[in-house]
Amino acid sequence: MRFCGRFLCNPCTWQEGGVRQLSFDALIPIFTVPILMVVASQSFTCTVIIFLLSPPLIYYFYRNFLRFIIRTKFFLMWTVTSVLTLLLVFEFSVVPLLEILPEENLVFVICVVGGLVCGYKTKQKACQVTQENSLLQGVELGEGDSEICNICKKCTSQKAFHCRLCQTCINEREYHCKWLDCCVGASNLRWYLTCLLFSAVAFIYGSNLTMTSVCHPFILIGTILLPDDCSDVYHQLDIAICFVSSIYSLLIGLVITFYLIYHFWLLYLGKTANERHLLNNENENNEGVLRNATKLFCCKL
Ligand SMILES: [Zn+2]
Ligand SMILES: [Zn+2]
Repeated sequence: MRFCGRFLCNPCTWQEGGVRQLSFDALIPIFTVPILMVVASQSFTCTVIIFLLSPPLIYYFYRNFLRFIIRTKFFLMWTVTSVLTLLLVFEFSVVPLLEILPEENLVFVICVVGGLVCGYKTKQKACQVTQENSLLQGVELGEGDSEICNICKKCTSQKAFHCRLCQTCINEREYHCKWLDCCVGASNLRWYLTCLLFSAVAFIYGSNLTMTSVCHPFILIGTILLPDDCSDVYHQLDIAICFVSSIYSLLIGLVITFYLIYHFWLLYLGKTANERHLLNNENENNEGVLRNATKLFCCKL
């Protein structure tokens, strides 16, 4: 097995020269996500087992393999593969069922494209910071700077924090988001939050449109439908795949919504996630499995 050195040296490779080399760990999600969705579509029991077993298996895989790769693209590729798979299932399996209005599809596509563009801008801004910082020489304190990072030996603002994965100091750093494979800080927080907002709407709305297309729906208010009876979705494989994709979308959408609320709460407090993490570590020093798993599936601090 060969792990790609380019990614370890230069985390911004994708922005600079496109995808040239993919390491083995980055290839795994490309096959795993579609296979898991097909297996989960076989029966209700399979769906429950796959959704319950996947998180602990990914955690096990991370603890024993991925964490030894300095800057793995596994999680970024999981995000990309999931978004593409869900989008393809929606456009090529759900839309042809002719249950969805063109304007509903348009709103969904706008949210997906919005999320992708903002996610790309989040990564691009993070890479700009890394590149600008790498050009800085020496430890001269500039205007507004007040500290010297004892890891990279460069001048930083008081609110900057060194990221071991990005190998640079990030101003007002929130955390290193594994799923986008970049740091979130002052330079890209707005893009990141807009990405979360578009993505949350796209995943939850897409899930609702899919579920109400493959299950028997009932009218909640006006044109808003909710799924009622989903008992016969497993009779046909393509319908079952649509149903499984809608559950997967809903789960992702709910996690993203939780993150959005968490960030608005942080903005209200006037603190970054990193500051809160450091504060919590001062108060309690436990690093249990649950805490590690939370860090893994959310974002690494
Ligand atoms: Zn530093
Ligand atoms: Zn980082």
